[in-house]
Amino acid sequence: MPTRRSADSTEGEQLFETAVEQFDAAADLIGLSDNIRTILRSPKNEIIVNFPAEMDDGSLRVFRGYRVQHSDILGPYKGGLRFTPGVELGEVKALAMWMTWKTSLSNVPFGGAKGGIAFNPREHSVREIERIVRRFTHALGSNIGPEHDIPAPDIGSNAQAMVWMMDTYLNSGSGGDRQNTRRVVTGKTIETGGSLGRDKATGQGLAFVLAHQFDRVNRELEGSTVAIQGFGNVGEHCARAMAQMGVTMTHVADHTGAIMNGRGIDAEALWRHTSEAGGVAGFDDAEALDVDEFFTADVDILVPAAIENQITTERAPHVRASVIVEGANGPTSVEGERILIDRGVEILPDVLANAGGVIVSYFEWLQNKMSARWQLGQVDDELRRYLWEAADAIEAEKKRLACSRREAAYAVALARIGTVFNQRGIWP
Ligand code: NAD
Repeated sequence: MPTRRSADSTEGEQLFETAVEQFDAAADLIGLSDNIRTILRSPKNEIIVNFPAEMDDGSLRVFRGYRVQHSDILGPYKGGLRFTPGVELGEVKALAMWMTWKTSLSNVPFGGAKGGIAFNPREHSVREIERIVRRFTHALGSNIGPEHDIPAPDIGSNAQAMVWMMDTYLNSGSGGDRQNTRRVVTGKTIETGGSLGRDKATGQGLAFVLAHQFDRVNRELEGSTVAIQGFGNVGEHCARAMAQMGVTMTHVADHTGAIMNGRGIDAEALWRHTSEAGGVAGFDDAEALDVDEFFTADVDILVPAAIENQITTERAPHVRASVIVEGANGPTSVEGERILIDRGVEILPDVLANAGGVIVSYFEWLQNKMSARWQLGQVDDELRRYLWEAADAIEAEKKRLACSRREAAYAVALARIGTVFNQRGIWP
């Protein structure tokens, strides 16, 4: 049964209600048992920590951090940490639930989790961020662990933050196996145990999923145009990977504004600009445009790779792209998706399209466990294989159930989880 939204619920709670609504629809489709549904509707653990950190002027501030562990039925909890001022419990619960479906769909032996710290890293010095991240790691204590819960970067956090987390965790432990705990986080720098190809994995994965979809329908990818919202980790690497496949990026938007150039925007030049200016606004080789105009851009492909709830009832009727590749988590509202599907727009849903990050995080975790180092070619080849297998499983299920691609993705993920619940039993 779809949940009813209360008018006064926060945006985060509404996002969680959306996640539960999507889950219920897919559970209905595959006839998931009531007991398993009851368990999966709520996260297993919701951890909130309030912790102090010292500012550069010597004062102390208390920050609030979250870690929601949704399910570990398939393996250790896994999911990113976002550093945004507005992060709240409902949002993190939704994202943790989506991680459970994503890891299952991707066939990696992990469960689902998500977390964050409510602060804006742009307003702090590097040293302050370091102290905040280390105190958060300390506050989480044994709630994370290399075989228990493995964080990774997400909005606002990065490889350096993961290295501080790893170092804090490692130094808080005792005994001779401390070095064996480096895989407590993924998305680390290469030098400290990260995997080649992890920084670009999500963006690269979007491009692999898109190329597979075009192949399936015998459509030529080379010569297509793309509009990308978000030019952070996901957006930037997606732009680079798609450029290698002959796709021209004509529109880009982020928190500072939107830009366009019909002849194409060079990803490297834009990256240099955003690194200095903090956003796409003011980029020389493009003209500024309104964010709503961005969503109606006359392009073949639209990649929302920033934040949730961007393609809504208001914007969906005006989208001109014929394919949407969801880089962000939850960028399309439930109603927005219905409008797009009715209009014949193909949606490659987040649980598939942006799974590259968690898949290569799994490769990093494996390499750490084996003290091994994979070549970049091996990482990319394996990533492509995992994603295409997931995409093929979805297409088969979509046909069998005559449903949307997102519902089919959930159906594949839930069926695997349901099988494991049934075999393990629910104890006691
Ligand atoms: P990031 O912090 O590197 O970049 C975020 C981008 O979004 C920036 O360009 C920022 O300007 C833009 N943005 C922020 N607020 C915005 C707003 N209000 N309007 C328009 N643009 C805005 O983050 P990221 O790692 O690239 O993550 C982007 C999305 O992809 C998130 O939804 C995240 O959950 C999802 N995701 C990330 C990964 C990963 O490996 N990093 C994996 C899977 C999914």
